[in-house]
Amino acid sequence: MKIVRTVQELRENVRAARAGGAEHVGLVPTMGALHEGHISLVAAARRRSGLTVMSIFVNPTQFTEASDLDAYPRQEAADAALAEAAGVDIVFAPEASELYPEGFATTVHVGGPLTQTLEAAGRGPAHFDGVATVVSKLLLAVGADAAYFGQKDAQQLLVVRRMVADLGIPAEIVACPTVRDADGLAKSSRNVRLRDDERARALAIPRSLEAVEAALALGETRSEALHARAATVLAAAGIEPEYLAFVDASSLAPVTEVASPVLCAIAARVGTVRLIDNTLLTLPRAGGEN
Ligand code: AMP
Repeated sequence: MKIVRTVQELRENVRAARAGGAEHVGLVPTMGALHEGHISLVAAARRRSGLTVMSIFVNPTQFTEASDLDAYPRQEAADAALAEAAGVDIVFAPEASELYPEGFATTVHVGGPLTQTLEAAGRGPAHFDGVATVVSKLLLAVGADAAYFGQKDAQQLLVVRRMVADLGIPAEIVACPTVRDADGLAKSSRNVRLRDDERARALAIPRSLEAVEAALALGETRSEALHARAATVLAAAGIEPEYLAFVDASSLAPVTEVASPVLCAIAARVGTVRLIDNTLLTLPRAGGEN
């Protein structure tokens, strides 16, 4: 596995791999502090790609709180070992000045409702500008045929899909399921900042999503009633969500009823750590054959 720091080195290595027969190049963008969630994206990329590139870059432009950027875990040596064991071919780990050199003046802004809801309130409107800008730069730098993203960041996934479609970037965006710990908590680089008692309380987040799924399976389709189920579970753990939303899974517009696919999305602070999680709700098929 190679670790490269510059776009030029990255391009040279990708070009050499293509010349050597790698037909399909997959990109896994990350901010490091790797866990099984990231590794599952690598596994998905490797199933398709002759060359798997992972970027490790704590992107300053998508952080709206300086304290969150400062506290973000950084562990490049451990990450490189994990990436290599997972079968990554190239790690691209640039300095901020490589992606945002002196005089950098361009922002990729995805407008419309996708970027004005859910995470926009808690993380500020600049968050998705930072995401869209860095992901477009990474896709162009790698010349990737496909890029792999986690469903855990469902809104990010939709924003990236919109951006790639609108700019005509010839990369397929592949969604991968959320990886959880055995107790249900979604893997996140931020979990290491939870104290033991906070981690125990945080389990109410996946439990509240399970409560919603269970109620839906029993026939409750009204958002308001499903919202109440989840809110009760969260409140019992002393968690007041920043948002607990039932939105159309494609447009993110609020829905009053689960009819077509609906995203139930939660953001909540547990102690000082902001966590997000979601589940995709679809109606159980009535009268199915099996
Ligand atoms: P991050 O390093 O947090 O920016 O995440 C990099 C990529 O990993 C994003 O596409 C995330 O959606 C994805 N990811 C993060 N956590 C998980 C998880 N628990 N399961 C699956 N994918 C994840």
